[in-house]
Amino acid sequence: MPELPEVETVVRDLRPHLVGRSFAKITAGRKALRRPWSRAWEGQLLGQRVDSIQRRGKWIMIDLGKPWLLVHLGMTGQFTVTSAQMPRETHTHLVFTLDDANELRFRDIRRFGSVTCYPSRATLDDVFAENGLGPEPFDLDADYWRASLRATQRNLKAILLDQTIVAGVGNIYADESLFEASLHPTLIGRALTAKQAETLQHAIVEVLTRAIDRRGSSIRDYIGGSGLKGQMQDEFRVYGRTGAPCLRCRTSIAKITLAGRSTHFCPKCQRKRM
Ligand SMILES: [Zn+2]
Repeated sequence: MPELPEVETVVRDLRPHLVGRSFAKITAGRKALRRPWSRAWEGQLLGQRVDSIQRRGKWIMIDLGKPWLLVHLGMTGQFTVTSAQMPRETHTHLVFTLDDANELRFRDIRRFGSVTCYPSRATLDDVFAENGLGPEPFDLDADYWRASLRATQRNLKAILLDQTIVAGVGNIYADESLFEASLHPTLIGRALTAKQAETLQHAIVEVLTRAIDRRGSSIRDYIGGSGLKGQMQDEFRVYGRTGAPCLRCRTSIAKITLAGRSTHFCPKCQRKRM
């Protein structure tokens, strides 16, 4: 599933193709996405110029002056700009024809993604507030972070996956961040020292920044907004490396299930200690 670095890469790729353009035509396929597309939105969107494209957590937001489009890639979503001449691939559910020779296409094999229109930025912010979307990892306040950890009996893996505590981290970057911080994924939030909390905060930023530099991870269907794959999957240190030697200490990487998700870690580098 695309996480923050993949979504950020899509946004950065799309930005130069979308800003200043407008939608000349919108074509929706017959199959519904997680939230069905409404034809009623098209009147609000057609002819509106794209002012900006932004990311919040794992969400993409397109500012069209007044209306906003909110996009989630779900499990297998691909959001790309391509020449209108290029044949449309199967599973292309939405096509926004731009006022140049290009098309913005939303393709999603499993259809857990969505593209939804909101009448204003305020209504969009209401949705984030209703869902309790937490702060961006790059803007985490150290006191807030320490207090959030101290307030919970849950393990670190579950905390990192919780979008209300910090937005944008998913299964891959949770595992990679815990390795970076040398912290065992089953440690309880409340048990962390102030120093460990700080180390983890820096590790998250470090791992996400490195992943954005590599254009994210292409392990299944993920591609950037220009159709190019990411490279971070070649640099995973624990995720998906069960049984392979740790790159630091050669101990076999272990896999357990936590918070319902496969969790990879080095039993030696991430030893539980007081
Ligand atoms: Zn190790």
